[in-house]
Amino acid sequence: MVARKQLSVAIIGGGPGGLGSAIALSELPYVSVTLYEQAPEPREVGAGISIGRNAWNVLHLLGAAEGVKGAKKGHSWQRNGRTGEPANLDAASGPGKPEEDGYAAIRARRTRLQAALLEQVPTGIIQFNKKLVSLHDIGENKGVRLVFKDGTEAIADLVIGADGIRSIVRRTLFPDHKLHVTGNTAFRVLIPVSSIEHLTQFPTSTGWWHGLNGHFYFSHVDDESERELCEITVRSYNETVDPERTATWAIPATNERVLARTGEYDPRVKELLQVIPEGSWREFAMVAGPCLQDIKGWDKVALIGDASHPLSGAFGSGAAFAMEDGWILARAIEHTTTSDTTVKDALDIFQEIRGPYYERMYDFLDKRRDALGKTREENADFDSIIRARIAVFGVLGGGALDWIYKNDIKQTWHDYVAAEQGAKL
Ligand SMILES: Cc1cc2nc3c(=O)[nH]c(=O)nc-3n(C[C@H](O)[C@H](O)[C@H](O)COP(=O)(O)OP(=O)(O)OC[C@H]3O[C@@H](n4cnc5c(N)ncnc54)[C@H](O)[C@@H]3O)c2cc1C
Repeated sequence: MVARKQLSVAIIGGGPGGLGSAIALSELPYVSVTLYEQAPEPREVGAGISIGRNAWNVLHLLGAAEGVKGAKKGHSWQRNGRTGEPANLDAASGPGKPEEDGYAAIRARRTRLQAALLEQVPTGIIQFNKKLVSLHDIGENKGVRLVFKDGTEAIADLVIGADGIRSIVRRTLFPDHKLHVTGNTAFRVLIPVSSIEHLTQFPTSTGWWHGLNGHFYFSHVDDESERELCEITVRSYNETVDPERTATWAIPATNERVLARTGEYDPRVKELLQVIPEGSWREFAMVAGPCLQDIKGWDKVALIGDASHPLSGAFGSGAAFAMEDGWILARAIEHTTTSDTTVKDALDIFQEIRGPYYERMYDFLDKRRDALGKTREENADFDSIIRARIAVFGVLGGGALDWIYKNDIKQTWHDYVAAEQGAKL
């Protein structure tokens, strides 16, 4: 029997990436895991979240699929925002296509995903109220020293930066990597379905209503047996954002602020917006950053989820990416655990599998941005611009992105192992 090295792993951040990593790593008996979360208690900001095939695949591996309930997306409508006219039925949608195994794509409350993951995390490994303020490489085979806002410190063999888009772990490893404000702001709210039942003209199927400077999104977030809450997002493009409003997520926004961005929409949308109680909206000013060449550092730190690829929710699947990262990292550690350089070797594998995956996403976004830019220049009229934008949504849901939305992370791992064994023959 080969001796397995005991490893201490510190996870920074308790979002989908951190919780997913904690579950996957805790299953390895030679790994001791501690998760540090800055919030004083479990808390999830945001409204709804899409769970597609890729997310289901990894949720099954984490044992958390059963706990995630939401509204089946079925078909999603893409509409002309000014008239409500459906421009296409997203019939071939990857993210929205019904699945045969009962795990169809859903839109769920974010709190449901968080609760399902939390339930699988072994008791006692999460420390709340632990905001990481700095981390230090303390030398070969000595690990990483972590310093928290409350003055306490910890040392770990491996640190996983799962601390989201404004990651301090990323900023420490790569101080030259900078985020920028994209100008894209999302205003989000969950409201009771009962509060809109009188608006009989409003179509309550999942839909995007495209305007010139943004879009309006509506979806249920509960399955048919509940139907308590629904989600509304107003997206505004080309915003000039006060830097103070990008410092934190989910800051309260007034109704006046949101309504000022919805003047061009169909009267049914405007009527619906009127029912939203003052104080309910939360504002998310998007920030993004360039693709990182390395998603690891010091041979003992990994970046996962939004910390590793600050894409600003571009594919609406960032929670799945974050959980996939955590699961793959656990497989890589399991695979290398008998090596004298376990952590370094595992990080190399993690980089080899996940680095090119994120590069491919960035590449796709660059090409899409170029294509949309051309359309704006060539077609000044509203209808052409909206058609072009909807065509992009068609690409998102039309199968071309199955490598994202249908990603089977277990298969990815099998492919890696098979290729490695093939290379050794
Ligand atoms: C408007 C919007 C809509 C989106 N819609 C979808 C969607 O439909 N589907 C989808 O899959 N994804 C969606 N995403 C993306 C998704 O929310 C993220 O990609 C996902 O939450 C990333 O998970 P994470 O674990 O990497 O980071 P996060 O969820 O951001 O979690 C990071 C955690 O780290 C903690 N933390 C941060 N700094 C510190 C510190 N210094 N010390 C200790 N703890 C710290 C935070 O409190 C937080 O709990 C959307 C994003 C946005 C902005």
